[in-house]
Amino acid sequence: MPATTTIEEKTEGQKLGERLGFKIKNTWETATEADMAVVEAFAGRYKAFLNAGKTERELTAQTIERLREAGFVDIEDALRSKDVLGPGAKVYQNIHGKALNFAVLGKRPLAEGTAIVGAHLDSPRIDLKTNPVYEDAEFALFDTHYYGGIKKWQWPTVPLALHGVIFGKDGVKKTIRVGEDEDDPVFVITDLLPHLSHDYDDKKMTEYITGEELDILAGSRPFKDEKAENKVKLNLLNILNEQYGVTEADFASAEIEAVPAQKARDVGFDRSMIGAYGHDDKCCAFASIEAVLAIAERAESNVPDKTVVCVLTDKEEIGSMGNTGAEARNFEDFIAFLLAKSANTSVGGNGSYCGDIDLRRALTHSAMLSSDVNAAFDPNFASVFDKKTCSYLGKGLAISKYTGSRGKYGGSDANAEFLHRVLGILDKNGVRWQFGNLGKVDKGGGGTIALHFARLGVEVLDCGIPVLSMHSPFEVISKIDLWTAYQGYLAFLQDV
Ligand code: MN
Ligand code: MN
Repeated sequence: MPATTTIEEKTEGQKLGERLGFKIKNTWETATEADMAVVEAFAGRYKAFLNAGKTERELTAQTIERLREAGFVDIEDALRSKDVLGPGAKVYQNIHGKALNFAVLGKRPLAEGTAIVGAHLDSPRIDLKTNPVYEDAEFALFDTHYYGGIKKWQWPTVPLALHGVIFGKDGVKKTIRVGEDEDDPVFVITDLLPHLSHDYDDKKMTEYITGEELDILAGSRPFKDEKAENKVKLNLLNILNEQYGVTEADFASAEIEAVPAQKARDVGFDRSMIGAYGHDDKCCAFASIEAVLAIAERAESNVPDKTVVCVLTDKEEIGSMGNTGAEARNFEDFIAFLLAKSANTSVGGNGSYCGDIDLRRALTHSAMLSSDVNAAFDPNFASVFDKKTCSYLGKGLAISKYTGSRGKYGGSDANAEFLHRVLGILDKNGVRWQFGNLGKVDKGGGGTIALHFARLGVEVLDCGIPVLSMHSPFEVISKIDLWTAYQGYLAFLQDV
């Protein structure tokens, strides 16, 4: 016999509350088993992406490799070629090996605008100084200058890997990547034992360890010689010379970054989260890359309506300055190059000329999701969050109408019309979204790459994946938010 259940009739007030109110649910609650398998597979690929590329250089190289496999051509080669770029053409722009743009050309003229997703590839870290090697108390150390907004006290005692490039005497660029393989040595910034920490414990946290004290332990064994000076440093230089063919002077032009050596890991018994270095902003970069590649993959039979573009920038963590940052004109140049090679313009794709009006129109008619991580609500630090408008792990793509701090200063504020349009696209495609305001008013704030695209006239909205412990050596995101972001970016690129 079937069990009898009584379905309680909802009251008028309950019904009215449902109709007029707004409640954001946890995405896991409505995910099916099939959804979960897709989420898990996507997360697995993301972890591999993170482990293979911890710096902007590595991620640029690995992404370009994937793009070439997918049939993308370098814009420089396209410009040299006599061929005109038609709908469905796949092109990328390598920006000094540290940033890139890539696009799938649509059916409609570029001057009618493009659909853009953009993220940044750089993350906070510890850079070696330009003359970094020194010896103190028979230790060899690397002097450093930290990069981006870090809490300095979080970085001592974290196993570090070194990534970067250095030029040897032979003029050959050597790639450095030490500390990632199981058998590699790692490096570390030391910390003081609690037994002797009394004077330090009373310091302000911002002063506990200074920028100059963030030096990295690199060796302790002296070079065997009675008369030589600074023998531990000498021994280190000797090892570097044997392995890379470099001398101390070669560090003057090197770029070497120390990043946490650990791999991306599942977090929690339920494995619902991923802990890793550099989710900011590699998780949004990954979701953006995947979304544009999904469109590229089917472009043979299903050319997108508008041209879709993925923008991956460098230097966001230090203000987007420099020729690899969003402030530079790389994106504008990329669109100009595409226009010059497109048949579908007012001047017609001869490869050497881009109509200025076409370029201005292409920019001002473009729409963009600036995809960057958001501060997820953390119950341990509840006082700084506005629970009504902050983002939560597992509740979907976090939408930030505006960024900035202390009166929205220095931020980018999306137009109501554009925001309404984007939310409509997300709703229509069943993409779960939530609010993403970074903390309570006057508690702090932050910026993204959005304003640099807004400056060009692009309609731009900040959105992204909520993260716990942002800018720490081990940040945490939800697997389902990563997948939701991908779905959101895909929906936006197709429908905007
Ligand atoms: Mn970021
Ligand atoms: Mn950041």
